[in-house]
Amino acid sequence: MDSIALKTQIPTSPAFVFDEVELQTTLNACQVLRAKNACKLLYSIKSLPFYPILDVIKPLVDGFSVSSLFEARLAAEVLAGGQGSLHLCTPGIRADEVKELTHLCSHISFNSLSQHQRFAEQVAPHCAVGLRVNPKLSFIKDDRYNPCRKFSKLGVDIDALWQDSAIDRVRGLHIHTLFAANSYQPLLQTLDKLTLFLGDKLGKLDWINLGGGYLLKEMTDHSPLLAAVAQLKNRYDVDVYIEPGNGLVGHCGYLVTTVIDSFVSEGKSIAVLDSSVNHHPEVFEYQIQASAIGHHVKGRFPVILAGSSCLAGDIFGEYRFDAPLQLGDRVIFERVGAYTLVKANRFNGYNLPDIYCHRATGITRVKHYTFEDYRQYWLGDTAS
Ligand SMILES: *Cc1c(COP(=O)(O)O)cnc(C)c1O
Repeated sequence: MDSIALKTQIPTSPAFVFDEVELQTTLNACQVLRAKNACKLLYSIKSLPFYPILDVIKPLVDGFSVSSLFEARLAAEVLAGGQGSLHLCTPGIRADEVKELTHLCSHISFNSLSQHQRFAEQVAPHCAVGLRVNPKLSFIKDDRYNPCRKFSKLGVDIDALWQDSAIDRVRGLHIHTLFAANSYQPLLQTLDKLTLFLGDKLGKLDWINLGGGYLLKEMTDHSPLLAAVAQLKNRYDVDVYIEPGNGLVGHCGYLVTTVIDSFVSEGKSIAVLDSSVNHHPEVFEYQIQASAIGHHVKGRFPVILAGSSCLAGDIFGEYRFDAPLQLGDRVIFERVGAYTLVKANRFNGYNLPDIYCHRATGITRVKHYTFEDYRQYWLGDTAS
């Protein structure tokens, strides 16, 4: 979406604007992965489980991947009546949910040998049991995002797995080791290790899920992945899945905010926005700086973009624009389609952003939260 449209065609603020046209373009570009029966593409719904968007994605993927019972229920509802697969993998499977999960899902990858031991027998025949493997190859420096960090809780240690008989009793394997990768190189290295350790067992499997963490938009050359998948299929006769989340929706979302106050604090310009880091919690959680339209390092007017909550650290960061920000100006954060709305909250009683979708037919508001929604959330079940 162009920034003029974002600045002028969104009547309310704060707003989360999702560009379905861009999403379509991305999904169309990804069809090369599915062509000739190469990969099966799943959308990992945890990054943005917004129903209207799941509806757009559904016809262009082979299913969804989920991490909890609620996600599984929602995804199953969207897929209802269709052919789509539903994959689950989580450290958080609860004993009392296994039955329903196996009813809803087509594939469940257990995260540990303990999960597998306790729950595999309860899995219904239509649901294919797998195991998540931790290949212990770290490609991410920041341990907060690194599934292969020391003492990891994610997946069965590959050093233990190749000697364990559990692998002879599953139909698939799941690996997920990447985060925001813009190259397939780490995946190829991981597959090398997987085949080295488990090669003689892979031929007995039906499927391998290669996880998510790929920034598909930035990876224009998919040939390394396609070659690796072709090799897996030739050697082991398995279905191969990938399950990106951020890579499909991340670049399609914008957070549109408005300057509601501005002043100078000890010589620094502060612009208070009608939003806060509570609408984009990863800013605070991981201390990242979201990209804002119009900001560049040589901008002559530095300004601290601050949120409107009571928290001193509710700050988007220091940005530089070509003109000083005025009251009423729009500030737009881009590439916030993934892990933004799903983590947003109403801290301090500030409402959640309205949600708009940009479609071929124009821009439409598709969700507006009200005081009544806020009130309902905080009412006890028995109150009237
Ligand atoms: C989070 C997650 C994904 C999706 O990751 P993205 O970085 O959003 O692509 C896929 N698979 C598993 C197991 C995950 O935990």
